[in-house]
Amino acid sequence: MSSLLVDNIGELVTNGVGADPLGIRRKAAVLVEEDRVAWVGPAAYAPAADHRIDVGGAAVLPGFVDSHAHLVFAGDRAAEFAARMAGEPYTGGGIRTTVGATRAATDGELRATVRRLRGEALRQGTTTMEIKSGYGLNVADEARSLRIAAETSSETTFLGAHVVPAEYADRPDDYVGLVCGPMLAAAAPHAKWIDVFCERGAFDVDHARAILACGQAAGLGVRLHANQLGPGPGARLGVELGAASVDHCTHLSDADVDALAGTAHTDGFGTTTVATLLPGAEFSTRSPYPDARRLLDAGVTVALATDCNPGSSYTSSMPFCIALAVREMRMTPAEAVWAATAGGARALRRDDLGVLTPGARADLVVLDAPSYLHLAYRPGVPLIRQVIRNGVPQ
Ligand SMILES: [Zn+2]
Repeated sequence: MSSLLVDNIGELVTNGVGADPLGIRRKAAVLVEEDRVAWVGPAAYAPAADHRIDVGGAAVLPGFVDSHAHLVFAGDRAAEFAARMAGEPYTGGGIRTTVGATRAATDGELRATVRRLRGEALRQGTTTMEIKSGYGLNVADEARSLRIAAETSSETTFLGAHVVPAEYADRPDDYVGLVCGPMLAAAAPHAKWIDVFCERGAFDVDHARAILACGQAAGLGVRLHANQLGPGPGARLGVELGAASVDHCTHLSDADVDALAGTAHTDGFGTTTVATLLPGAEFSTRSPYPDARRLLDAGVTVALATDCNPGSSYTSSMPFCIALAVREMRMTPAEAVWAATAGGARALRRDDLGVLTPGARADLVVLDAPSYLHLAYRPGVPLIRQVIRNGVPQ
């Protein structure tokens, strides 16, 4: 068994049990055996190992867990972004532009885009990235989107219910039937999760409930896009169905917040519905940000993710999302870093990710900085010096 000692860590974020929520240790070391963390403790007592990386007093934290990304697509929508910045509102209708380009693309073109974006994210410290379908919107293109996504991530999500495609515009019930029938059957072998865009202009709560129930019956876990563009029943539907995560949560009523808070448990796994906030979307659509402070103060478990997609949030950068969360959503730097690591892991119901404790997957990020605080304090600066994923320096 090969071992690696990450030594001389000035500040180690473990997200383990400790006096502070990040479980910080100073002058620490981490021993990695194969793809797992084997030991964490004071550098002065570090065991011997086959290989050693001296990080010279830098900060080390768990790799980022980006639990919400749409990477399987073709084309871009830079012109739509420019129009929006010139004052046009975001409606979600541009998704259909990407659907046309995605259907016309070859497998090789889609694969190249997924790999390029995944590589980009990895260089910015993301060691786990969920990938959704949702730009195929027919049986063959949803299935191939997930097949290609599964080459890169085990956290794949079937989002056939992203929008109703143009050819079904006047018969949405028929489209829901297609999603629940042949499309789900073709998608399920390549997917771990099912997701629905539950929003005015996309799918209403009855359609969303029907689709998610079919997915659950096929063995998929539930997640949901909800309450992004306006208030609605999506967040409470997520709680009702035991969703792992309700994503966006920009427009929430007190009852929505109470429902989400009611699912929070101290172990954080199994039954918690996480509120995943995607501030890149508000940034890129120039919209009001979700009120993270209100959620945190109510006891809701919060995650941060990029929502990387060509229309409403074309960023793969978790450090950028951390900086936005602190500056625009009133999260403390510690809350934002927890949400981008342990929070993302909980949104994927993974207890082996987002923590650096013995037994966890050896996903570590070394910063070019003495503290995690610099992720928000120095926005836009490339602070990721080294990434170790599955125990392997990248
Ligand atoms: Zn999304």
